[in-house]
Amino acid sequence: MGKQQITVLTGDRPTGKLHLGHFVGSIKNRVKLQNEADCSFYMIADVQALTDNANNPEKVRSNVLEVALDNLACGIDPNKTTMFIQSEIPEIAELTVFFLNLVTLARLKRNPTVKDEMKQKGYGEDVPAGFLVYPVSQAADILFCKSNLIPVGEDQLPVIEQVNEIVNDFNRIYGDTFEKVKHLVGDTPRLVGIDGGVKMGKSLNNAIYLSDSYEEIKKKVMNMYTDPKHIHVNDPGDVKNNVVFKYLDIFDDDKVEVAKLKEQYKKGGLGDVIIKKRLIEVLENLVAPIREKRENLAKNPEAVMKILEDGTVKARRIAKETMKEVKEKIKINYF
Ligand code: ATP
Ligand code: MG
Repeated sequence: MGKQQITVLTGDRPTGKLHLGHFVGSIKNRVKLQNEADCSFYMIADVQALTDNANNPEKVRSNVLEVALDNLACGIDPNKTTMFIQSEIPEIAELTVFFLNLVTLARLKRNPTVKDEMKQKGYGEDVPAGFLVYPVSQAADILFCKSNLIPVGEDQLPVIEQVNEIVNDFNRIYGDTFEKVKHLVGDTPRLVGIDGGVKMGKSLNNAIYLSDSYEEIKKKVMNMYTDPKHIHVNDPGDVKNNVVFKYLDIFDDDKVEVAKLKEQYKKGGLGDVIIKKRLIEVLENLVAPIREKRENLAKNPEAVMKILEDGTVKARRIAKETMKEVKEKIKINYF
């Protein structure tokens, strides 16, 4: 048997600029995998973004460029990764229609990710139908280009599970067509928000963005939640629920020093300002080169759009091939 081809697909919803959660949850793996995989795709999921932003097309439109800039600034190389826009590949919508026949309403409603997001957005039964079925459209995103490795944050795992159910059903009914899909979660599966909330999110107002200035980073870190009982420097402090230490654990490479600081903080005698100042520098060191590269790329938005246009042409070619095969399998290849 020959070596299995690895095809990677990842993407972002153009609903806002990208943040540290995206970086550790997915982008780091994307950048690494573009050198290791046989083929890499990066999709800007504007169709999916519209499922819960139908009345805000301007927001989705303007963030297409922003998420492209964020990914390029983090090291996505358009020569290695095919970058494209979802709505420009109508075959994805077509494939979604056929996949929808393989999924029940009960199963859609049971998806824990969708359930959580519906609750967060206060939808109830008034959820837009397009939003409820976005995992099915995500199956089409992944399978139109036959990808089999998906770098995602932990919040997306139930979606990948549902994609694999669609793969199984499709292959069983129409014959072997798609491979099972594997996920790859980053070292930090779910970065907490600067407010200590369970997830740093674009729309949750609790993020440090990859484009934040030094001043913004400083302000956000200085306002971070530490330990409300750590009032005086000499009071013993909690490190477990302390957002500053959670971030130092993730972003500070000097693990020995962080361990020492934790001991000192637990015993008492280490002030919040000291650990916050350390975190500000650690985050600035990470963000500064990304921010600088981003600012340079942003000077020429036409060049970025051209990258997306070229990638879209390539993705579309592949989409047409897959659709031809799918239509043969479903026996709707008439002429
Ligand atoms: P939205 O609120 O619009 O859904 P989002 O912040 O959840 O925005 P997405 O574009 O939905 O961002 O997610 C892009 C990728 O980043 C996904 O793989 C997702 O799992 C991952 N991701 C998002 N937030 C985090 C986080 N806080 N920690 C780790 N991974 C994350
Ligand atoms: Mg999301």
